[in-house]
Amino acid sequence: MIPEKRKKSCQGLDKVQEVLERFGVAGDADWMAVVLFVRNLVAEMDLFTESQKAAIQAVVFEQMAVKPLERKHFRRVVNSIQGFLLDNSKVADLRDQLKAEREGATALYSEMSRVVQEIQASSQNRQTSLQRMGQDTEKLITSEGSKTEVVRRFRGMITEMVSHAREEARSWEERAKQMERTASFDPLLSELYSRRALDAQLEAAMERARQDKRPFSLMFLDVDHFKAVNDTFGHMVGDGVLRVLAAIVSAHSTHFKGYPARFGGEELVVLCEDMDEATAVTRAEAIRLDVAGCPFRPQVNGAAPAEPISITVSIGVAQLRPAQTSSDLILAADQAMYAAKTGGRNLVVPHSIVPALRKD
Ligand code: GH3
Ligand code: MG
Ligand code: MG
Repeated sequence: MIPEKRKKSCQGLDKVQEVLERFGVAGDADWMAVVLFVRNLVAEMDLFTESQKAAIQAVVFEQMAVKPLERKHFRRVVNSIQGFLLDNSKVADLRDQLKAEREGATALYSEMSRVVQEIQASSQNRQTSLQRMGQDTEKLITSEGSKTEVVRRFRGMITEMVSHAREEARSWEERAKQMERTASFDPLLSELYSRRALDAQLEAAMERARQDKRPFSLMFLDVDHFKAVNDTFGHMVGDGVLRVLAAIVSAHSTHFKGYPARFGGEELVVLCEDMDEATAVTRAEAIRLDVAGCPFRPQVNGAAPAEPISITVSIGVAQLRPAQTSSDLILAADQAMYAAKTGGRNLVVPHSIVPALRKD
């Protein structure tokens, strides 16, 4: 007797064979791979929405409808599949994230190169001053002046050199601090920590919470219908709106000692150390209200849009539970945020009530 699962997959294969026969390519391994991909694999992927999945199947089967199916048609289908994978919004988000990381790294590299050049120039200057000091000292010693006078002038030269070096050291220290900022903050939303800084901070904060047996919560914030903002006002205005949003979230976070970061795209995260879920929900509610009531007037190339833009945000809040990893905690807050979206948006939802909201 064939086990039930095996029987099912055999039936699946029968179906695939049927499709291949219909397109006149029965037994062709390449076309079989294509059919298996669009029928069986794509259906299981959460990379695509249901309508995108249907669109992929429709496009591929449409392209397979020519007779006879040749190699060039196979290449065309493979290119379409590639296009679907590359144009996916999650891939686009990753691409944006990579771009932002690259921009950040470039800014950091050029700042470091500038400082290295300055240090080199300064060391050359010092070499020249030392030579000059040597010549001056020789002149001083061979001059007619008294010993006390010679020592006094020599001392003056050294004091001047030391104070100059101190001045330079202070300025380089300041630059190093600036570089630390560049490395830890998001290149576009400079008031928020970067994703990389967030990952490190989250692990450290969770460790502290567990050691000190203190509560720890995380907010996950996503702008509602942000695509519409981009579509209506353009991407640059969209960027400007995100900057204003970053300023609001950052100001709130400073107030309650949260750690605000850009998770990616228009999704932000705030780490709330020493805070339980209920308190974090209250803080998140204050952010939500401020955002909803704020007339966004982002400046783009020195000009603001004629009418202020209104946006809202959905926020999910989760408190760290025993044995949870950082990814578990982010996922829990993300699920709560998703519940806020399905609940109508412009809402704050604590993760503790998410199971009760589930309809399945
Ligand atoms: P929802 O309410 O379901 O969240 O709707 P949404 O339109 O906000 O959908 P989603 O969160 O999936 O899409 C976010 C959009 O934000 C897609 C992307 O083009 C845009 N976006 C992401 N990062 C940036 C950015 O840095 N600048 C701009 N201008 N747009 C961005
Ligand atoms: Mg989003
Ligand atoms: Mg959104």
